[in-house]
This record gives sequence, structure tokens and C-alpha cells, in this order.
Amino acid sequence: MNRKAISLLSGGLDSVLATKIIQSQGIEVVGLHFTSPFSSRREKERGLQAIRSSEELGIKLIIKEKESDYIDIIKKPRHGYGKNMNPCIDCRIYMLKKTKDIMKEEDAGFVVTGEVLGQRPMSQRRDTINIIERESGLAGLILRPLSAKHFPPSIPEKKGIVDRSGLFDITGRSRAIQYELANRFMLSEFGCPGGGCLLTDPIFSRKLRDLFQHDTSSTMTDIVLLSIGRHFRLNEKMKVILGRNKNENDMLFSINKEGYTLILPSGFTGPVALVKGNPDDAYLNIIGNIIACFSKYPGDMINIEIIDGETRIYTAEKKLLDIEKIKI
Ligand code: SF4
Repeated sequence: MNRKAISLLSGGLDSVLATKIIQSQGIEVVGLHFTSPFSSRREKERGLQAIRSSEELGIKLIIKEKESDYIDIIKKPRHGYGKNMNPCIDCRIYMLKKTKDIMKEEDAGFVVTGEVLGQRPMSQRRDTINIIERESGLAGLILRPLSAKHFPPSIPEKKGIVDRSGLFDITGRSRAIQYELANRFMLSEFGCPGGGCLLTDPIFSRKLRDLFQHDTSSTMTDIVLLSIGRHFRLNEKMKVILGRNKNENDMLFSINKEGYTLILPSGFTGPVALVKGNPDDAYLNIIGNIIACFSKYPGDMINIEIIDGETRIYTAEKKLLDIEKIKI
């Protein structure tokens, strides 16, 4: 077995420490950071943090995007969801399977993670850790330096590559010991723990569930759009996304609009609407009223500009709309 490991480096304290502990035993470590369309802004900042952490640790960092096969897992996770649309067990198995491929490419002997027994309710329990390890095809090859003493020795420990006496027995959610270790190792480049995955967010999860229910062939653009704007469902195939501010209006304006129709307020200031599907006049009436509902437009006739290859103006008649009923 090679004295080289792949470390799953999220940029958070635990993964940075786990890497440092193994590095301090004279083992070469390559960092691996996963990005995803379900990363919150905070999680995206973690990506930058992972780069800074790898620089402080002096290691190579590989950045890998979770691809469309990840979407299939979220649609139908074998081990089910957590509290929201987070399929944490399947997600960990997915990442570790991808890590196994990188291990081969890098000629690395084992994997290091910052997992701490009992820190997370779904994926860091002893029973789920065992399932994840077995199903990823990495049984015995995953080393968790922070909690290693709560597990049987891994293969690199048995082979004498890693000295078990230099590993730890941390459990639970407190990070007191980790902060002490960060001081001891003089580490400063690490992010705050938790909270970066949109799949654990109830509002995002509601929109994702709606998308999967209505669109079996949803694209990456459909998914990226879930974190932008207010969403309204008009029928089985048609939904409206409304910008909440200038930044979101600009994003809706400039995104790849294949399968979507762009609708703008005409002659008044209001939000940009991006509509999945081709609305006929009856639906244009509703969409015009949704736009007017989120603007200060006082008039009875609402002019909207429809951009779908060509540009035209449609005039909708103002009427009362039960916006809560169509809100996703
Ligand atoms: S919180 Fe999100 S990224 Fe983390 S394991 Fe769960 S699904 Fe995967």
C-alpha cells in the first residue's frame, strides 16, 4: 500500500485537522473537494476556503463537480432522505465512489475524512458509517483520524503506514478538542462548521420536490434556477420564476433560456419573470398579474413584453389573484 492518501477536504475545521494529522505522520496527502449545484453561497465560499486550506497545508487540491448522475441519486436515494431532501447516506456513498476513482488516478492507498462519530444525525452514526464504507467499496480503507479509536483499526493502521497512537477518539458535536488541536498545529485556514447544503433547507427542498414531481427530465438549468427568485406553479408543465431583486432579475435575464420564455414588465418597473413552457393568452393574463402583484403598478391594464425568439407586447387585465395558492 502506498504512503499516499486522498483527503476529503471540505474547507471546514474537521477535514483540515484530519489532513494535518495524517500529514504529520510523514504521509503524502492530496486534497479532494466536491462542488455541487446544491451548494449554498456559504458552501461555495467553503470551496475558496478549501483552496486556502490546501495552500496552508501545502498539498495539491483536486476540485470535482458532482455531475448529473448525482441528480439521479437525489431523485431516488436507496437509503432515503433526511429531514428534507438531503439523501446524506447515498450522497456520502456517491462521493466516496468518486474518491475511489481518484485514488486510482493518484495511486493513493487510502482515504482520509474529517468525520466525527455522532456529530451528524444521519451520516455519522456508527451503523450508517458502516453502510457507507461497505457500499462505497472502500471497506477498511477509510481513515477518520479524529474518531479512529472508536473504530477497529483500518488497513493502513494494520499495515503500519499510519501510527494509531497518533489518532484521536473524539465523538459528538462539541468542537472544543478540534479548536485546541488547530492551535497546536498552528492552523488558521478553516471555515465555520455546517449549514452549506441546500438539500437540508426546507424551502429549497419544497421547490426541488415540486420540480421532480412535475418534470421527470429536469435539467441542470432547472435545478440551478431553484435557488433564484420566487416560484409559482401554474399547471403540471408550467411554472413561473420571479426575480426578487435587481441581482436576481439580471440572472434570470442572462441565464440559458432553452425551454423557458422571458417576460418583462413593459412601461412600469417590476420583476423579471422566467416561465417554463409556452404560455397562451389565458396564462399570459395570470403571469401579467403575478408581475403586477410584486410591483407598485397602479393601472388596470398591465403591459408585458414576451421574449421567445421574437418580442411582442401583451396586455393583461388586472384581477385579484390568490398568490399563496400558486406559490411553491
Ligand atoms: S448535507 Fe448535503 S452534501 Fe452533506 S451529506 Fe447530506 S446531502 Fe450530501
